[in-house]
Amino acid sequence: MEDCIFCKIIRREIPCDKVYEDEKVLAFRDINPEAPVHIIIIPKRHIASLNEVSKEDLELLSHILLVAKNIASENKIAETGYRLVNNCGTDGGQTVPHLHFHILGGRSLGWPPG
Ligand code: 5GP
Ligand code: ZN
Repeated sequence: MEDCIFCKIIRREIPCDKVYEDEKVLAFRDINPEAPVHIIIIPKRHIASLNEVSKEDLELLSHILLVAKNIASENKIAETGYRLVNNCGTDGGQTVPHLHFHILGGRSLGWPPG
């Protein structure tokens, strides 16, 4: 059993504001939102980061993309636009070592990121 914040959210040991769930993924609102819409999508299986994915995870990864698209639509940011972000490792700014994707929208997002 993983001692990981997101695994604890999956096991409901830590509450979350869930927006979507199926057998492969869970999506919930970020506790510290950086935009009016800030949702995290995670695989239910513990994968530490994008560095750890392999060919066997391709179906999961494409599923996450489709879920992200649907969540954007349901949260009314599909038309105005949004960003799907994966922070990987120290320089990427990853703070939770469980693969996750941020959906950010509801405001104009700056580029390049800091
Ligand atoms: P990272 O910096 O690793 O890319 O993103 C981790 C994100 O998880 C951060 O935006 C942070 O606010 C969010 N986060 C950390 N702990 C929790 C939690 O317990 N609940 C929720 N909903 N979000 C969390
Ligand atoms: Zn985990």
